[in-house]
Amino acid sequence: MAVSVIQQSRLVIFQGLKTSSRHFTTSLSAQKNYKLVVVGGGAGGCAVASKFVKKLGAGNVAVIEPSQEHYYQPMFTLIGGGIKTLSQATRSMKSVLPAKCEWIQSKAVNFDPVNQKVTTANGEEVGYDYLVVAMGLQLNFNKIKGLPEAFDLDPQVVSNYWDKTVVNTYPAIQRLKGGNAIFTFPNTPIKCAGAPQKVMYLAEEIFRKNNTRKDTNVIFNTALGVIFGVKKYADSLLKVIEARDIQVNFKRNLVEVRASEREAVFENLDNGEMEVFKYDMLHVTPPMSTPDELGTSDIVNEAGFVDINKETLQHTKFPNIFAIGDCSSAPTSKTAAAVAAQCGVLEKNLSAVMKQGTQSAKYDGYTSCPLITSRGKCILAEFDYNAQPLETFPFNQGKERSSMYQLKARVMPELYWKMLLKGHWNGPGFYRKMMRLGMGSSQKPAA
Ligand SMILES: Cc1cc2nc3c(=O)[nH]c(=O)nc-3n(C[C@H](O)[C@H](O)[C@H](O)COP(=O)(O)OP(=O)(O)OC[C@H]3O[C@@H](n4cnc5c(N)ncnc54)[C@H](O)[C@@H]3O)c2cc1C
Repeated sequence: MAVSVIQQSRLVIFQGLKTSSRHFTTSLSAQKNYKLVVVGGGAGGCAVASKFVKKLGAGNVAVIEPSQEHYYQPMFTLIGGGIKTLSQATRSMKSVLPAKCEWIQSKAVNFDPVNQKVTTANGEEVGYDYLVVAMGLQLNFNKIKGLPEAFDLDPQVVSNYWDKTVVNTYPAIQRLKGGNAIFTFPNTPIKCAGAPQKVMYLAEEIFRKNNTRKDTNVIFNTALGVIFGVKKYADSLLKVIEARDIQVNFKRNLVEVRASEREAVFENLDNGEMEVFKYDMLHVTPPMSTPDELGTSDIVNEAGFVDINKETLQHTKFPNIFAIGDCSSAPTSKTAAAVAAQCGVLEKNLSAVMKQGTQSAKYDGYTSCPLITSRGKCILAEFDYNAQPLETFPFNQGKERSSMYQLKARVMPELYWKMLLKGHWNGPGFYRKMMRLGMGSSQKPAA
């Protein structure tokens, strides 16, 4: 297709730009135009829209988001453990998006960064001066042969990762009378890398309470070669695993579920051989990727993630585009906690770009994973890009603690709904500094 003179000149401008010194003008050809368009109304999208609608005013910010519901996904672990309900983790999208932003209820299906417009599934062209991409991750159950059909065929096949299946986990745990309870971890980046094993610890505890544990093998088959990416917390988790007599098989990737035979087929990633495990309960963490709609666009890297500078969160080629959360290329563990820390950085840097100023904020990769090990105990992992602990509290967070469980189960949901989504929570960096009162490294806490 012929490229117009305007398109050509925009492309040249973008290709030559690595700084934030240009003032961006709205797309000339879109049907609707906004100063800021946010794609995705999840954790990151809501937080960014809330922050910028206050700065830019009504009518200037649009959020493209297809879903009627917004889920507080970190609560899914507790739903699977029978501790919370799905309705406690659900709000209508309308109620969480800022009232003064325009909600375009459709999927973004095409990105045209040169002409500064996004096309929706309804065929609408939405122009922008600035774009924030916050589309999260897509669950690819269909990449495993026999799934998602197995969810319908066998009630003992469950997954905390999907709103449609999370409600089935607790009943499956309760139904189990013995045999193999298998929990999987796929060979792709996933959201909340701790969640595949948190559900296992909660289930194992319930098996003990139900007196079925002695007849049950609890098995964690993970495609990874380690139990957790940060040594300090991996060491703690391995102790829990040993004490609870859980079998861990590394480098095992789920490739097929044969629901009628109750068999799960895993590829041994060391030698390529297929291994068949009989199961009596199977908790699947699916392979994940960025949403298909991003896959072919000019704004993603080879792995499909929105290609941003990992410190500024600005796109590497298109300076008027930023990304936040799970769909971005920031090489950190993908969590809502990371979204919160990224939010403050994005706010400062995008505001600077809008004012043609200098970007000063840098994201250090902060992320956090509350590793629930039982109903009432939690190891609060917090770390940075270098997989070094970055702990908020002045005590050793590598220990299982009831205080950290209360924080996860009671405080964090409030923080999410009332602070993060409203644009008021940028992560615990400030409090970490206050609590440590100049102690410096988080490596020095009291035992
Ligand atoms: C079981 C489980 C346990 C977890 N536990 C924790 C935890 O303990 N702590 C923690 O911090 N995090 C946890 N997380 C991870 C956390 O929920 C995510 O990291 C966080 O929600 C990421 O925010 P996001 O905005 O990037 O993506 P999301 O919140 O997933 O939002 C993405 C949004 O984009 C929308 N979207 C997708 N495609 C399109 C499109 N084409 N056009 C427009 N919109 C689109 C989606 O509908 C969605 O609303 C957990 C997640 C799960 C599933």
